[in-house]
Amino acid sequence: DLSTHDKERIINPIERPTVTQDLSENIILTTVDDLYNWARLSSLWPLLFGTACCFIEFAALIGSRFDFDRFGLIPRSSPRQADLIITAGTITMKMAPQLVRLYEQMPEPKYVIAMGACTITGGMFSVDSPTAVRGVDKLIPVDVYLPGCPPRPEAIIDAIIKLRKKIANDSMQERDQSKQTHRFYSTTHN
Ligand code: SF4
Repeated sequence: DLSTHDKERIINPIERPTVTQDLSENIILTTVDDLYNWARLSSLWPLLFGTACCFIEFAALIGSRFDFDRFGLIPRSSPRQADLIITAGTITMKMAPQLVRLYEQMPEPKYVIAMGACTITGGMFSVDSPTAVRGVDKLIPVDVYLPGCPPRPEAIIDAIIKLRKKIANDSMQERDQSKQTHRFYSTTHN
């Protein structure tokens, strides 16, 4: 014979715990954020953006030897289809408005990895070059800095893993509130 408790479990197999309204709301919000973050970090689509020798290492990453497709990364040629930009190479003053325009054309949420010494600080051009931008973070917000000259493909993978960890703890609400675009140039600048 079945006990009363067993009969109730057959009729209603999912025992629903009683939770307060506040706790219930928090569980739902956290779960949606986690699900959303998991989907985004598992399918980052980087825009192809290379201006100098650093891009050679990024190109190597796309090939079968390093196979970055296994991280769900599919390179895109259009900013409309990308949510990640890896700035690989020197950013010149002339290139700056185009970089800002490409960034603004990417849909939210979007992320930036600054790859290489030239992108991060101006590198060897930071001393007396009148044309190099001394840090891409003066133009667009950077999520992960990847130093090196050039960083090897393994280092790029490490930066992507760091970005994935950052996305895993992301909150859409907080990101919208803190979203800022730092720029020197208007996108209408020619
Ligand atoms: Fe080239 Fe080094 Fe500058 Fe990268 S950091 S663009 S490899 S000079």
